[in-house]
Amino acid sequence: MEKKNIDWSSLGFGYIKTDKRFVANFKNGAWEEGVLTEDSNVVISECAGVLQYAQTCFEGLKAYTTEDGKIVCFRPDLNASRMADSCKRLQMPVFPEDKFVEAVVETVKANAAYVPPFGSGATLYIRPYMFGSNPVIGVKPADEYQFRIFCTPVGPYFKGGAKPITIRVCDYDRAAPHGTGHIKAGLNYAMSLYQIVDAHEQGYAENMYLDAATRTKVEETGGANFIFITKDGTFVTPKSDSILPSITRRSLMIVAEKYLGMKVEHREVYFDEVKDFAEAGLCGTAAVISPVGKIVDHGKEILIPSGMEEMGPWTKKLYDTLTGIQMGKIEAPEGWIKEIM
Ligand SMILES: *Cc1c(COP(=O)(O)O)cnc(C)c1O
Repeated sequence: MEKKNIDWSSLGFGYIKTDKRFVANFKNGAWEEGVLTEDSNVVISECAGVLQYAQTCFEGLKAYTTEDGKIVCFRPDLNASRMADSCKRLQMPVFPEDKFVEAVVETVKANAAYVPPFGSGATLYIRPYMFGSNPVIGVKPADEYQFRIFCTPVGPYFKGGAKPITIRVCDYDRAAPHGTGHIKAGLNYAMSLYQIVDAHEQGYAENMYLDAATRTKVEETGGANFIFITKDGTFVTPKSDSILPSITRRSLMIVAEKYLGMKVEHREVYFDEVKDFAEAGLCGTAAVISPVGKIVDHGKEILIPSGMEEMGPWTKKLYDTLTGIQMGKIEAPEGWIKEIM
């Protein structure tokens, strides 16, 4: 297979149209088989449920080339089950989980020429998503849906290594108790855009959201979960019903315990505790881990002891181990690596 003529090392995190995408329609109460198509445009009614009442959810995962030249992706079964959860909460039909994984594999295979080579730091980002497609004007779920998967090659999230970032405590909320914070709904992102644009204007990389009810507990950022390391090397990560269950975070909990022998605590984390942690980071598919060096709470600075120059030592071990597993350099737990070709 001939790779596309792309300068992999200069790729950013943007959309590049590839050759094929997967499309399946839900109509008359059933999913059709689905096909790969070259048509990258979506044509729907001006009154489609997604356009009026934001009935849509999505997933995000990556395919990449391992050291021995295989194309693989990481735990796609968890994306399938998380998307099923999102669909149920939004009154959308579930695309069967085994078919979801098959469709991811088919889509990547059809775009293999766009999967960046090993060592480039770049990956193929895969975006499954679903939306209500038929006209809906009275407030109710749509009757027809479209499930699609496209992919796009993306550059290394951090060019020239991961530098610690500065974030701020946000005065707005991301998710309400008993709301939709735990699912990957587009609506959660729409209402976070104001805050992230403002954060960037004020010089912060991300917003730290606190729990909406008491504003005393750490939740997550707009698109990544938190991990913290205590001074005695315990891995701590916030637990809340309004946090999106990050696959990277769930994987890091296992890496911490089983590969690095760390004590792991998944529990409520009070903002008051943050000043006592030795290391802090954000985790998600895009960057794996972004180290956090400074957290600003209304002008009051919390300096994380690992500093602004590099990842803390435990964060680095976690990062190296998880990316080593993903790249096939370290043996993966059963079922983590899905071989595509
Ligand atoms: C997607 C997402 C994450 C990260 O999840 P991964 O499965 O690790 O990519 C974290 N928080 C939010 C709000 C998200 O939407």
